[in-house]
Amino acid sequence: MKLIDIYNLLVDFYGEQNWWPIIEGRECVYKKEFMERERTDEEIFEIMIGAILTQNTSWTNVIVAIINLKENNIFSPYKISEIENSKLSQLIKSAGYFNQKAKKLKILCSFLLNNKISELKKLSVYDLRQKFLSLWGIGYETADSIVLYGFNKPVFVVDAYTKRIFSRLGFFPENSEYETIRDLFEKNLPQSSNLYKEYHALIVEFGKNLCKKRPLCNNCSFNENCAYLHKNAQSFAQFIQQS
Ligand code: SF4
Repeated sequence: MKLIDIYNLLVDFYGEQNWWPIIEGRECVYKKEFMERERTDEEIFEIMIGAILTQNTSWTNVIVAIINLKENNIFSPYKISEIENSKLSQLIKSAGYFNQKAKKLKILCSFLLNNKISELKKLSVYDLRQKFLSLWGIGYETADSIVLYGFNKPVFVVDAYTKRIFSRLGFFPENSEYETIRDLFEKNLPQSSNLYKEYHALIVEFGKNLCKKRPLCNNCSFNENCAYLHKNAQSFAQFIQQS
């Protein structure tokens, strides 16, 4: 199977995801228009904050932290730079690793005070990635989430679900490097930020619901082509023969 075939099956099965969501009031909203227009500077800022807060935690915990920041009226680069570390940590406590994440948010916000979002928008994908990757606490996945979903630039986001699912399907070994996997997706798909946005969101959905740590292979559309399933079926057959 080709990567684009898998995408088509996933979008048929789960429908469009319309990531990255924005918090409006106390609601987390996903809108079709996010795929059709440029994000505002405020939305880009929120996506950056969300991308850091969601490291090693679920999105539900991030929503609480973002609502806290907004309701306490400190949701801007200047205000986050100014607030005491301990206060910031308390406000984002729900997202876990709160002392580390408070430091990361402060570093990001100091950076934004010297690098306006309107200027960052003019950079190439490569230069923009490098800017974020040079900040402490921002790795490939976080940088690429910001570049793709915030700045609408075509870079494929790789996460743990991507590694698990596509190594099981036989596209690469599970211990492959981030950049090798990103490169494989980008070389084998049309270069389109909307496609990359949807594909990553669909991978997360599939990884959470079907191709889990203990996968639900009976319900999976890819089971005829899955290297993981075939390997396990062979081992199981050998085990039955030997016992
Ligand atoms: S058949 Fe199982 S292991 Fe393979 S992709 Fe589907 S759920 Fe994952």
